[in-house]
Amino acid sequence: MITLKPIGRVRSPVRDRRQMPRLGAPAAVELFDEFRPGLLRLEKHSHLWVLAWMNEAERDLLQVIPRGIEDESPENLHGVFAVRSPARPNPIGLTLARIVGVNGARIELDRLDFVDGTPVVDLKPYFVARDMIYSASNIQIGRPANREAAREALAAQAVNFHGEFCAELELGVDLYTDFRAEVLDFEEPASLRVTAPADRPHLLDALMGMTRASFGRGTLALGEPGTVRFEHDGRLTCYALSENAYRRV
Ligand SMILES: [Zn+2]
Repeated sequence: MITLKPIGRVRSPVRDRRQMPRLGAPAAVELFDEFRPGLLRLEKHSHLWVLAWMNEAERDLLQVIPRGIEDESPENLHGVFAVRSPARPNPIGLTLARIVGVNGARIELDRLDFVDGTPVVDLKPYFVARDMIYSASNIQIGRPANREAAREALAAQAVNFHGEFCAELELGVDLYTDFRAEVLDFEEPASLRVTAPADRPHLLDALMGMTRASFGRGTLALGEPGTVRFEHDGRLTCYALSENAYRRV
């Protein structure tokens, strides 16, 4: 027998799980007063893992069709330990968030995908040295619902890598979203090699964050000014760049 004791609650403007944006919404964790001493020196860390108890989730399912997949045929079934679905024997939700501020027992976070009132069972700092695996990969589960959903997810990856939102990053996100949507039709390319201009370092960062291309693995190269090239599955797609616009050529 295991007994879990909630340490606090999520405070979110979102009250209904069906209304939750894919990447969550700005929210806070309010600790119960007795746990407040546990926040000592939390300000040393920029990001926090939040573990919450998804009390509305189903607990007797071991395979599910993940959210975002409309085709309910058996080949789309996934084991619950291979997805992040809240349905699982112990419905512990896990989300990584940036700490915006700490006011007493209230921790403001840039985003959480837990609804208002969700019990929080633990908090742990994100450790760059242990938690960041730049070469990790996933075969994507399902397809983005639309171009805007794809763009939002790509923008988050670009900002996570580059550390700021800037005009060059936004241009890179728009360009790569166009490539994923219009050229690849949201399919995952079996191989991808990116060539980007050396004189656009912010855009280069954005592309590295979204594609995880790297010089050492041979999937990233520096090329001529004004051109981004994607070599993928034996094809080549080129974009011409100006100061603040891109064009597929
Ligand atoms: Zn920048």
